[in-house]
Amino acid sequence: MLRHEFHIPEGPDGHPHLYFCGNSLGLQPRAAADFLQRELDSWRDRGVEGWWGGPEGGWLGYHRRLQEGLAAIVGARPDEVVAANALTVNLHLMMVTFFRPQGQRRKIIMERGAFPSDQHAVHSQLRYHGLDPEHDLIEVGPRPGQTTIDTAEIVAAIESAGDELALVLWSGIQYYTGQFFDLPAIAAAGRGVGATVGFDLAHAAGNVPLSLHDWDCDFAVWCNYKYLNGGPGAPGGLFVHERYADRPDLPRFAGWWGHRESDRFLMKPEFHPASGAAGWQLSTAPVLGLAPLLASLPLFARAGGMEALRARSRELTARLYAELQALSGVKLLTGSDPEQRGAQVSVYVPGHRPDLERELSALGLICDYRQDNLEGSAGGVLRLAPAPLYNTAEEVARVPELLERALHPIRS
Ligand SMILES: *Cc1c(COP(=O)(O)O)cnc(C)c1O
Repeated sequence: MLRHEFHIPEGPDGHPHLYFCGNSLGLQPRAAADFLQRELDSWRDRGVEGWWGGPEGGWLGYHRRLQEGLAAIVGARPDEVVAANALTVNLHLMMVTFFRPQGQRRKIIMERGAFPSDQHAVHSQLRYHGLDPEHDLIEVGPRPGQTTIDTAEIVAAIESAGDELALVLWSGIQYYTGQFFDLPAIAAAGRGVGATVGFDLAHAAGNVPLSLHDWDCDFAVWCNYKYLNGGPGAPGGLFVHERYADRPDLPRFAGWWGHRESDRFLMKPEFHPASGAAGWQLSTAPVLGLAPLLASLPLFARAGGMEALRARSRELTARLYAELQALSGVKLLTGSDPEQRGAQVSVYVPGHRPDLERELSALGLICDYRQDNLEGSAGGVLRLAPAPLYNTAEEVARVPELLERALHPIRS
């Protein structure tokens, strides 16, 4: 547990808040400011020469300094990953390369109720290809009365779409319900019918162990500001399987930062992509945006890696789950099977409570609340995520009392 390596937000009384929002914005590593300051100093002292000189060889190879740490977290080879662009940008770039509708094979399958940005990206990509989401997007959701989706149903939907399926795009952990999907089964099913397979790991990277290389998916994207603590709007991450490392023939939207480094600065018009995921970079590396990640990524290794963190996370989440189950008048959306959830528990709270998030924050509990009418009546969903790098069992134990006070102010 590396809680002491993070700044924990405090209330006006100086007591640390219960921060259960690492699924939305991870906390700031204490070393982040140093890493950022180092680059500000280099800029101050060297100007443009900071690209070639300075500590650790300058900014030109900045993305390489993050590859090993990221690769360990998502289960990839270092060359298969890069931190660049942003999640939604990367999703578009990946679809340009890996969503190639042809003849009958032109459909995309994804989970119903996916994160809005993913829906926008998929809809706009379909339209860009002259296709119609009404016909060419298959969405698989929970059965009526259920909140999670059975793996068997996902696999059956993929198999039933068969050779009409061009792309399987699935989230690692569903942002809303907290369901952790069986990604190897989904990848195998997708590749089995001849589709390409991509994962959105926004809520999975840094939360649960992943083995992208071995699962044999084609691509993955994620953001680095949630469980990976890279700071607000940190550049995104992308994975491209090794089998595409040296495929200059693949269609892609290219930019000069994706050009191989050896002759990038000869400024020739021909595009020769860098080997591996780095070939999907577009623009000059956002050094100041990437710097905090250099503080955060080593913490995952220091914690013993994702398997060790997962063991700790299971305990924290199981405890939170049990506490929330005991709360009256709410309904848990996240499933009870520890294999099918990460650090997050989602709770449906009935009633019109537009101020609930603010009320909880005033009590010292930071979490996320979204209005929703799940059962045709007013209500909303609270999402609570005990992040295994910095949340503690003591904090989890204090959650029910605070929720009780906010949810049933008259009783308590
Ligand atoms: C957080 C999140 C995003 C955010 O995308 P950005 O491009 O980083 O703003 C997109 N998709 C999912 C599934 C997310 O959870």
